[in-house]
Amino acid sequence: MERKLVSIQRIDHLEPVSGADTLLKARVMGWDVVVKKGEFAVGDACVFFEIDSLLPEGRPWAEFLRPRGFRVKTARLRGVLSQGLALPTSILPSTVPAVGTDVRDALGVVKFEPALPDTREVAGPFPGQVPKTDEVRVQSALGVLDELRGHDFFVTTKLDGTSGTFFRTLDGELVACSRNWALKRGPNPVWRMAEKYALDTVLPPGFAVQGELCGPGIQKNRLGLDALELFIFSVHDTRTGVFLGHEDFIAFCAEHGLRTVPVEHVVTGEAARAFDHGLEHYLKLAQGHYPGTKQRKEGIVVRPLVERLSPTLGGRLSFKVINNDFLLKDED
Ligand code: ATP
Ligand code: MN
Ligand code: MN
Repeated sequence: MERKLVSIQRIDHLEPVSGADTLLKARVMGWDVVVKKGEFAVGDACVFFEIDSLLPEGRPWAEFLRPRGFRVKTARLRGVLSQGLALPTSILPSTVPAVGTDVRDALGVVKFEPALPDTREVAGPFPGQVPKTDEVRVQSALGVLDELRGHDFFVTTKLDGTSGTFFRTLDGELVACSRNWALKRGPNPVWRMAEKYALDTVLPPGFAVQGELCGPGIQKNRLGLDALELFIFSVHDTRTGVFLGHEDFIAFCAEHGLRTVPVEHVVTGEAARAFDHGLEHYLKLAQGHYPGTKQRKEGIVVRPLVERLSPTLGGRLSFKVINNDFLLKDED
């Protein structure tokens, strides 16, 4: 489920940027974003573009991005972290809809996607029984922090590879997918992992496992691996339509000889109740390096120990916190 990439939001706060007369630092949801002075007052509606929005070429309101490229990225302006883009609602072709409305299509914005699979590799659509892999950025869904409060939870390392989904149908057929497509059996990394782990016999029919493929030739191989590897982060039972909770997920992977993403923390009981669920605390937890490397980690993924539905997300409670040091290196 893709969250709102471009939506109507309020300017919650404005403050000066030292050394820059023409700029202000604004707060929109959980994001800090630098805006032009005079463009907004506190409480105004704006059009907010999340990072990785790819703006259309040829629209006057987007042309100022041309020199830097049309993808919205994390930036540091005069020492201030700026994430996303806030523009006046006057850029809308229509009257201003309610706060929260998704206006991506009205503005012709798409999500930046790094690499599409070669069309020769596509076998068919992503299986409808399995949710696609995706994680919301905590800053865009601050409500999840309250939803997690008081519950036991766990934190895994966000690995910077590429997503793989492996689904064994009730007929015993294996469907192996990249982020959006089922792929043809072949020398592609997804099928190499299916073969390495003999998933067409090891996976119980009706189950899907989802993991991050990492290694040479994938992204920047920040883990410094010598060979391709698969790190599982979700197990889905398509017969019941639920994801396994933490304990069952760990046991499932152990039983079937699969590796999981690194589990950084399991926070239970008193420690969970006393935990600081503030945004700033999470941003600190997301910092650091991949163990045994000098590579900054991409961030963390946080989930309750027992699967829960999130009213904020309208799906499973789970979110990512991206390491701002990683984003600033302009490598995302
Ligand atoms: P983009 O293409 O936008 O740069 P992305 O592929 O990193 O994004 P995000 O939406 O940023 O996708 O994050 C979700 C993805 O993170 C999942 O699809 C999954 O492939 C990947 N991922 C890596 N590590 C984990 C983890 N520990 N738990 C869950 N997902 C993870
Ligand atoms: Mn990724
Ligand atoms: Mn990303």
